[in-house]
Amino acid sequence: MKTKWQPLVNKFQFAIEQILPSQCLLCHLSSNQTLICQYCHDSLAVARPCCLHCGLALSKTQYYCGDCLKQKHQFTQLHAVANYHPPYPALIKKFKYSKQLIFGELLADLLVSSIQSNILSTQLSMIDYLIPVPLHNNKLYLRGFNQAQLIAEKLSKHLNIPILSNTVIRSKETIAQETLSLSKRKKNLRQAFEINDISKHRIRNQHIVIIDDVVTTGATVNSLSKTLLQAGAKQIDIWCICRTSLPK
Ligand SMILES: [Zn+2]
Ligand SMILES: [Zn+2]
Repeated sequence: MKTKWQPLVNKFQFAIEQILPSQCLLCHLSSNQTLICQYCHDSLAVARPCCLHCGLALSKTQYYCGDCLKQKHQFTQLHAVANYHPPYPALIKKFKYSKQLIFGELLADLLVSSIQSNILSTQLSMIDYLIPVPLHNNKLYLRGFNQAQLIAEKLSKHLNIPILSNTVIRSKETIAQETLSLSKRKKNLRQAFEINDISKHRIRNQHIVIIDDVVTTGATVNSLSKTLLQAGAKQIDIWCICRTSLPK
């Protein structure tokens, strides 16, 4: 039944449809006002057998990867939504380099639902803070935003865990990790992060989750974990969108 309010209702519906796409961002079929359709969601959020410690993709019969048997990471556990396989590289590229922030929204949504289905709420309630991997100021200026910060904001909102801001800074402008060998990556990141003195007390004895978009060798998140542990953090975990295989 139509009422006198109908024109107003129509206007409101129209406004909502402008904000939420009615077509799936990926396959362009009807998505019922969500960013992607159920089919695309299910194909992106497939369970992945991985190392229980560092999240590296493994066959179903292994619990830990060879890398973790040889060396200890600074963090306790890494959780990734997916391996760095299509369509993820293209989605991340659109978000980070073409500044299509709606793809960041999508990736962050996928991480939220992956965390909700893989980590118990009792475990989530024990986390004190999220810390997005900081960018060096020069890089932040060039890109205009920190991709890890945008992902962390969505997680914070949905999981009700505060972000600890302005605590860690990237004090050294590092060379792009992709261009370096494993040993050079570690050297490149030595003392890359600093905690500002007035914030040190906020880290002591806290369980912190570091947020990043893509983890490759783990050198960046290890370096940040080490800095936080040295400042007195109790436990560090990592959540990210993709975990790549180790570079050869
Ligand atoms: Zn779709
Ligand atoms: Zn591992």
